[in-house]
Amino acid sequence: MADQQDLMELAKRRGFFFGSNGAYGGTAGFYTFGPEGASLKHNVEAAWRDQFTLRLGNDEIEAPTIMPEAVFEASGHLDGFDDMLVECAECGASHRADHLIEDAVNDIEDAEALGIERVGELIAEHDLACPACGASLAGEPVEDFNLMFETSIGPGSGQPGYMRPETAQGIFVEFPRLKEYARGQLPFGVTQIGTAYRNEISPRRGIIRVREFTQAELEQFIDPEEDEPPLGEVDDVEVTLYPATEQHADDGEYIETTIGEAVDEGIIGSPWVAYFLGIAQGWYERVGVDMDRFRFRQHLAGERAHYAADCWDAESEIGGNWIEIAGFAYRGDYDLTKHGEYSEDRFTVFKRYDEPITVEKAVVDPDMSALGPEFGGAAAGIAEALQDLAERNPDAFDQDEVTVEANGEEYTVDTEIANFAIEEQTESGEHITPHVVEPSFGVGRTVYTLLEHGYSEDEVDGETRSYLSLAPEIAPTNVAVFPLVSNDDALVAVATDVSQALRQAGISVSYDDSGSIGRRYRRQDEVGTPFCVTVDQDGLEGNDEDTVTLRERDSAAQIRIPVAELADELEAIFSGEQTFGDLSSRYGDVETDVTTA
Ligand code: AMP
Repeated sequence: MADQQDLMELAKRRGFFFGSNGAYGGTAGFYTFGPEGASLKHNVEAAWRDQFTLRLGNDEIEAPTIMPEAVFEASGHLDGFDDMLVECAECGASHRADHLIEDAVNDIEDAEALGIERVGELIAEHDLACPACGASLAGEPVEDFNLMFETSIGPGSGQPGYMRPETAQGIFVEFPRLKEYARGQLPFGVTQIGTAYRNEISPRRGIIRVREFTQAELEQFIDPEEDEPPLGEVDDVEVTLYPATEQHADDGEYIETTIGEAVDEGIIGSPWVAYFLGIAQGWYERVGVDMDRFRFRQHLAGERAHYAADCWDAESEIGGNWIEIAGFAYRGDYDLTKHGEYSEDRFTVFKRYDEPITVEKAVVDPDMSALGPEFGGAAAGIAEALQDLAERNPDAFDQDEVTVEANGEEYTVDTEIANFAIEEQTESGEHITPHVVEPSFGVGRTVYTLLEHGYSEDEVDGETRSYLSLAPEIAPTNVAVFPLVSNDDALVAVATDVSQALRQAGISVSYDDSGSIGRRYRRQDEVGTPFCVTVDQDGLEGNDEDTVTLRERDSAAQIRIPVAELADELEAIFSGEQTFGDLSSRYGDVETDVTTA
């Protein structure tokens, strides 16, 4: 397993990621992805897009990252998107109160679920000290701290706005339009890969908990009464589950099962959530997560976000801790109902019945020539209230008078003026609010997992080397090409041609002619480049063989391969048609390592 310090050091040295704004003393919680890291991250995003947008047949959008206050009033983030904050009176440092408890008290894994008061009590009971200065935190108030970054839209006092704390809201608020693009047909899914912002109280562990990060989210809109996921596609996918019941039990264990069985046995309540867990399992495997250090954990009741009816997290084991890398939430109709209530638009779809139906409907047709003179400006509101009352409680119109509320006042109206009737109406369908199932992936945490799970050390030629065993699809560079020495024009010319030919074949190539071959191999091993090609004298035209050496990263094994075959053979490896092992058996391992000689 990678030592965290080694990995952070490698990340910085090799240009994966580093703390931002170092020249100005750094800004906690903000990281810059360097050349290798940005490339790796883009490859992860491309693989996600391939699976969750393309292969699942969804549409991708790109929404703004700043949204007006009204959106977050509706979504509940303004009120409910809080973490527990405790500040040290001595040194002023801020801490996540629930994390302090979890770190200090052995059998508490989810302190947030205990509530703010109990967390305050526990800090006092255990006389917890400030991790920064050691002063006692007992008796310090624990407060809710809203995680959204606030800003102002436009000059002057402007209109309050917020950096979005999840990409999801950018999809929900556009639902009235997005459903049109989906021709009003459920189910449909919309994806988005983009930045989210959370003013984390104590950012930590490198890019694991930061204040600006990339999410890849899918919002799957379904008719909860009709739409079933294609579970058959993932029935046999094997998963490691850690349901809430097991987490409560003293001797709780993981359940190794298949998605199909987990649904049959009710371990995963929602078939849609189960479906996405199955798809995600395959995707994580594809991008190179070590599946022995991976599990799906169900949220405990107190841990669930304000919108979630059920939630499972994908977790990877990093440095001995389990880290949430994706969340799979059944959000029900929460978001669309809220936006429907708070906005002017309709967040429903029209569901057509197989056959039109006839229904009896209570209606009123108020006589406005009587209502107007009697109630003046309130008349229109009263007319609406009468219709409401007719639908809710038609029996009220059996009396001579009915009382309704409009604009906060009560009005008594002569029933005759209301013109109440029961009418037969034909309805061809109804407006329903879709439910939402949401797989939400953290891209940065996936990147970190791949680095940590891919990090290995071994001995080559009597020296310890470290390398990153990244999947070819994800590695920042597919192939590195070296001329054996840089001061031989003929070698450089062939190496340049080989680079160009590989690039033309769509393979990403890094050309490197600086330092000894050994150093160049080490550099490429550490950034996870799957293959290195070295051009030596045998690669020169006119020589009998016209070959180059091809070295595989993980085994450090080398073969000689004709220059003319190189691009095709590599492409076949990258597309999964063959392995390096297949190539070795055809071309034979190089017995002595000529390139390091
Ligand atoms: P959540 O909406 O909290 O379930 O977050 C969805 C995903 O975003 C998580 O599974 C993480 O992978 C990622 N994420 C959430 N908060 C952070 C953060 N502060 N830093 C990095 N990634 C995060």
